[in-house]
Amino acid sequence: MSAPMVQPPPALVPSRYLLVGDRAYRDSDGSEAWFGYATRSATLIRLDRAGAHALRSGDPAALAGLGPEERRRLARLHALVDPAEDELAAVTDGLREGSAHGATRSVTIMPTSYCNMACSYCGQEHVKAAHDRQRADRTARRVEAMLADPAVDAVTVTWFGGEPLLALRVIRELSARFTAAAALHGKTYTARMATNGSLLTTRTLAELHDDCALAEMELTIDGPEEVHDRRRLTRNGRGSFRRTVAVLARTLDEGLAPGLRIGIRVNIDRDNEDSVTGLLNDLACLGLAHPQVTLHLIAVHSWGNDVSEVELAARAYAAREADWLRTAEALGLHFGPLPAATVRTTCTATTRSGEIIDTAGRVYSCSEHPLVPGARDSGVVAEVAELAGSARRPAGAFDDWYDQVGDGGAQCSRCPILPVCGGSCPKLWREGHLPCPSVKFNWAQRMDLAVRRRGYTPLDPAAGR
Ligand code: SF4
Ligand code: SF4
Repeated sequence: MSAPMVQPPPALVPSRYLLVGDRAYRDSDGSEAWFGYATRSATLIRLDRAGAHALRSGDPAALAGLGPEERRRLARLHALVDPAEDELAAVTDGLREGSAHGATRSVTIMPTSYCNMACSYCGQEHVKAAHDRQRADRTARRVEAMLADPAVDAVTVTWFGGEPLLALRVIRELSARFTAAAALHGKTYTARMATNGSLLTTRTLAELHDDCALAEMELTIDGPEEVHDRRRLTRNGRGSFRRTVAVLARTLDEGLAPGLRIGIRVNIDRDNEDSVTGLLNDLACLGLAHPQVTLHLIAVHSWGNDVSEVELAARAYAAREADWLRTAEALGLHFGPLPAATVRTTCTATTRSGEIIDTAGRVYSCSEHPLVPGARDSGVVAEVAELAGSARRPAGAFDDWYDQVGDGGAQCSRCPILPVCGGSCPKLWREGHLPCPSVKFNWAQRMDLAVRRRGYTPLDPAAGR
């Protein structure tokens, strides 16, 4: 009897989720190095010249020439894959799985829908409303029920607005209940906040960090003092740049909130693009080149409002951003050149483990619905009073996002960045806007920054700029 035929292992092919750089570098020993970035593992991969060529060309002979050990390493990092694998299905299945995960719950709470600023590009409608104790209590009971649920390990609350610091008293009261419930049930509770920063004091920051479990805060600074104060005008006509930056610098310098991660968001459009470099210099000079601070440069885009006059074209923005990031790096400001993790779920709108509760106790799946004129009523998925205990919210308008991407018809279905992007914003796609993050267009320059950070020197310093 003849022995059964053993099928040879399939020849692996480069992943559709692999980006290969076209620059050569030297390491500290003088050896030549090339790089790829596998988005399925969010990993920057060192290659040699032959490896870079094989992965870029997909030439079977070149791939075979890499040797079994190297092929195994690249397969572990999802840079090489079995040609029979449906990679889009694997990525969208992973996103569906991450979105279905119910052990980590995320609740965005709007303690107020009013804002003390009137920024030119903001698409929100801000209204003053008296604080309603009963409604706040219902919201608190919902979060407490999540913390008491044996199937839940961790709850994150994001304080959002309007400007949440206008309702500091509500934040204090609810935080006391959430931290007590977390301690009682042995769960992890953390808070985040998106604020315009104008009402911050060092005392408030330390209190939010120490007593309200605030772990992360994102605030927006749109330019050097005169630009920021013109664009982000408080309703009382006073600028906020100087005060906000001084509070942050003192908090960092004196170690008043040691575990707090601070994100500085810069909204960039035609109006302020020429002042970004000045802002970066100011931030560094004023003490914000600090490990607790991360810089987020963001292109202004529509949130349902018309920003076509000032919006920068995606590629033009990405090209300028690459220069700003090089400046930021030289100044010692902190930022992530390439995404360091794959996306578990795109946003609150794509996971029923995430929800937004407004001041009236209405529950939404998408954070842009509560305050955007015309979108509010269509975005309500429930009333908080109707939801039983910790039950996950009903499906919203974008919970089918991965079906749309998985079907193959969306631009995201064909995009090599999908595992680290998730499709960015289903709402904007559906409204006909392009929400792609800049990394889609400037990944090569970002890869260059990441590689230099690891101590490699380009063989041709001028190339690739
Ligand atoms: S769909 Fe867009 S606007 Fe809505 S929560 Fe997601 S990222 Fe935000
Ligand atoms: S949003 Fe843009 S960058 Fe992100 S996956 Fe979709 S096409 Fe790619």
